Amino acid sequence: MSTPTVPVNLMEAIVSLAKRRGFVFPSSEIYGGLNGFFDYGPLGAELKKNIRDCWWNDMVRRRDDVVGIETSIIMHPKVWEASGHVAGFTDPLVDCKVSKQRYRADQLFFAAVVVDGKISGYVSALESENTAGELQAAAEDLKRKKAIQGQLAPVVAKDMTEAQPDEIALIPSPATGEPGSLTAPRSFNMMFQTNVGAMTDASSVAYLRPETAQGMFVDFKNVVDTGRVKLPFGIAQIGKSFRNEITPRNFIFRSREFEQMEMEYFIHEDADWARCHEEWIAWCEAWLKSIGLPDDHLSRHTHPKEKLAFYSRGTVDIMFKYPFGVQELWGIAARGNYDLGQHAAASGKPQEIFDEATKKKFVPHVIEPAVGVDRIFLAVLCAGYAEEDVTDEKGNVEKRTVLRLSPRLAPVKVAVLPLLKNKEALVGRAKDLYVKLKRRYAVFYDDGGNIGKRYRRQDEIGTPWCVTIDFDTIEKPGDTFTLRERDSMQQRRITEAELFALLEEQVY
Ligand code: ATP
Repeated sequence: MSTPTVPVNLMEAIVSLAKRRGFVFPSSEIYGGLNGFFDYGPLGAELKKNIRDCWWNDMVRRRDDVVGIETSIIMHPKVWEASGHVAGFTDPLVDCKVSKQRYRADQLFFAAVVVDGKISGYVSALESENTAGELQAAAEDLKRKKAIQGQLAPVVAKDMTEAQPDEIALIPSPATGEPGSLTAPRSFNMMFQTNVGAMTDASSVAYLRPETAQGMFVDFKNVVDTGRVKLPFGIAQIGKSFRNEITPRNFIFRSREFEQMEMEYFIHEDADWARCHEEWIAWCEAWLKSIGLPDDHLSRHTHPKEKLAFYSRGTVDIMFKYPFGVQELWGIAARGNYDLGQHAAASGKPQEIFDEATKKKFVPHVIEPAVGVDRIFLAVLCAGYAEEDVTDEKGNVEKRTVLRLSPRLAPVKVAVLPLLKNKEALVGRAKDLYVKLKRRYAVFYDDGGNIGKRYRRQDEIGTPWCVTIDFDTIEKPGDTFTLRERDSMQQRRITEAELFALLEEQVY
C-alpha cells in the first residue's frame, strides 16, 4: 500500500535527486560551475539518449515522409544574416548600474503605488508564479514604511519594456531595493560569437548556432536532389544550440547550451497549412503522452496575431506545468516560405520545387515543430517524481522516493538481483540473465544489501522492473524469477521468455 505525496519544494527535491543519483551536475563544478551550463551524469546521459532515440524513431524512422540530417554547429555567417538572427535575435536587457546585475526586461515587472489616486512611488519584482501578489505586497509595504494615509489601489503589473522614460529612474532595482540604478531596456543579441581560423578580425567572425532549424533550410536543395523526397515531406535534426541567455534559470529549463529536436515540414504553397499545423500540434501532444507526460500537465498557448513575426501565420506552444509555472515546452510554428525565400535571395540560389501538375516552380511553405531535449528531460522528472509512505505486510510505514518514468525513457530498464550474493547457483543464474539482457537493454546488476533496499535504489532512479533470482528459480521447475513492478510494487513470477516479451512490448 502506498500514499503518494509531492514535496512542498518539488524543484529542490528534483535538483537534489539529479545531483545525488548522477542525472545532472553543474558544469565545471570543481571551479565553481558556469552559469547556464550543465553536465549530464551516467543516468542523465542515458535518459537524454532515450528521449532523443524515441523522438528520432517516431519522427524519422517510423514515418515515410520525414528524413533526418545532421548539420554543423558553426555555419557560414551569411546564414544568420539571411535568417534575420544577426539583426533581430535579441532580448531586451536592463542593467542595474549599482549591483551590476542584468535582467531580461520582459521578466522584470514593476507597478506604480497609487494611493487615493496619486502615485506615491514604484515597486518591482522578478517574474514568478505570483508576480502580481508580490508587487501588491511590496506596494502595501511601501505605503506602511512611508506612513502614507489613504486607499491603496490594486497594483497594475507591467514589464520593463512598457516603462515610460520618466518612470525608469523611479523604479527600484530588485537587487538593491532602491530606485535610480536601472537603465532603459536595450537590445542584446543572444548569439555566441567566435572566430574561425587564425585571424581574429571582422572577416573571421562566426556564430554558434542558436537553433538547428537553419541547417534544414540551407540543406533543403541537397536533400531534395538526393533524398528521393516528395512534398509534403520533413527534414529533422537533433543537435546542440547555444544562446547567451541574459538570465539562465530554473535549472536546465533555460540554459545557454542546450539541445533541440526540430523538424521542418515542407508543404505545397497552396496546401491547407492550418490543417497541417493542427495535425502536427496533435502529433506532438500524442508523442509527449507516449513518453509518459500526463495529460493534465499539458496545455496549449496560441500566440496572439499581433505578437507574431510578420512572416508567421500562426504559432502554438505546447505548455507544461513545471513547478515554477506553466511554461513553453514545444513550439509549433507555421512559418510560410520566409526562410527558404530569404536564403534564395541572399545566396542567389533558387530554393524552389517544380510542380508537375501546374508546371510551375514555387517555394514550399513550412510547419516547424521545435522542442528542447532538456525541457522534456525536466518535464519527465517533474511529472514522475513522488515521495510515498509505504506500508509493508507487517504494518511498518516507510518512505520511498519513486521516479515514475515511462519504460521507454527509463535509464535502466531492468535491475537483476540475486537474492543472496554468496550462493553460487543464484549468482550464476542471475549473471546469465544479466548478460543476455545487456545485449539489447540498459540493465543493472546489484547484489549488495537487503532486497528491500535494492528495490528502493531502483525506484529512485525510475527502473520500471526488478527481477529477483531466488530459491524458487533454482529449486522449482519452470525457471521463473520474481518480477517486481516499480509503480504498484506488486510481485509475480515470470519466465525469461515472458520477461523479454514484456520488454519488447514496453520499450520501443
Ligand atoms: P523561450 O520563449 O522559452 O525563450 P523560444 O520561444 O525562444 O523559447 P524557440 O526559439 O521556439 O524557443 O526554441 C524551440 C525550443 O527550444 C523551445 O520550445 C524550448 O523547448 C527549447 N529552448 C529554447 N531556448 C532554450 C533554452 N535557453 N534552454 C533550453 N531549451 C530551450
